[in-house]
Amino acid sequence: MQARDILSLTPAGLYCPLADVHIDPLRPVPRALITHGHSDHARAGHGAVLATAQTLAIMAARYGEGFCGTAQAVRYGEAVTLGPVRVTFLPAGHVLGSAQILIEANGLRIVISGDYKRVGDPTCAPFEPVRCDVFITEATFGLPVFRHPDAVGEIDKLLHSLTLFPERAHLLGAYPLGKAQRLIALLRQRGYDRPVYLHGAMERLMQLYGELGIALGDLRKVEPGSRESLGGAVVLCPPGALQDLWARRFPDPVAAFASGWMRVRARARQRGVELPLVVSDHAGWDELCATIRETGAGEVWVTHGEEEALVHWCTREGLAARPLNMLGYGDDEAEAEAVAESSA
Ligand SMILES: [Zn+2]
Ligand SMILES: [Zn+2]
Repeated sequence: MQARDILSLTPAGLYCPLADVHIDPLRPVPRALITHGHSDHARAGHGAVLATAQTLAIMAARYGEGFCGTAQAVRYGEAVTLGPVRVTFLPAGHVLGSAQILIEANGLRIVISGDYKRVGDPTCAPFEPVRCDVFITEATFGLPVFRHPDAVGEIDKLLHSLTLFPERAHLLGAYPLGKAQRLIALLRQRGYDRPVYLHGAMERLMQLYGELGIALGDLRKVEPGSRESLGGAVVLCPPGALQDLWARRFPDPVAAFASGWMRVRARARQRGVELPLVVSDHAGWDELCATIRETGAGEVWVTHGEEEALVHWCTREGLAARPLNMLGYGDDEAEAEAVAESSA
């Protein structure tokens, strides 16, 4: 039996016929394994869902308690038997509750990475490399040009701007699930203890992180009519809000945007971002290559993003590699997606 018999590509996404489960399915299916709570991976309407407790809580916060037929929570490292298949969720370091999924069947070990990163993040468990025969990796930033700088250095740019411009409101555009919470946690680690203000679209998930034990300090909602008084404050908002009328009421606002894509200067310029911060929740090129080596996998399947470049690299390393070309997964660092997510 080959890996392709254990996991196949279907219009609904990756499917394991031996266990009759889909992984991060794109449309409603009877049984689903969900890697993490971003809306393109975690959709509503499945029959039975197996995921970490945090991912289930994120789905319930987004879609309501009835987001699936039955939900079963799994702990990191706990093996679940589904017919002839053993399934284990392991930390992916992407957002709170995010997991890689290890599938074992017929003596073969296949790991589906989901979205992941290798650098530290105070808001989620760190990625755990897993030895496997086949590694299915994401490739959002799968080009050698994407080498993410240290996130702490990027946060220090924001803190520096706050001291340079103490009268100006600093509007920080960020993806509302994961990135926004990580930025606040990093600010707190750097000793910033003033209140952080939240756009309405940020509140629900921020509150959920608090309930799930991630302390983020003094968070306040931007009250109607209060924007004029927020000079010198940090205000978290979805990236799309930076250009809204909403942003103009703040005192001489500095538009900041935290995303892996801020590495591309033209993107920052196009969006009128004055303070681009290169902070990514996805692995950069070096992290992707190092991770593939660490898994010891002889075969690599590459999905969402820059598939061809990473497949080429794998081939040069002597690994069997192929692009999956699955459509339907978004790019959770991209601005358009982030707007959709904030209104989801
Ligand atoms: Zn994601
Ligand atoms: Zn993704």
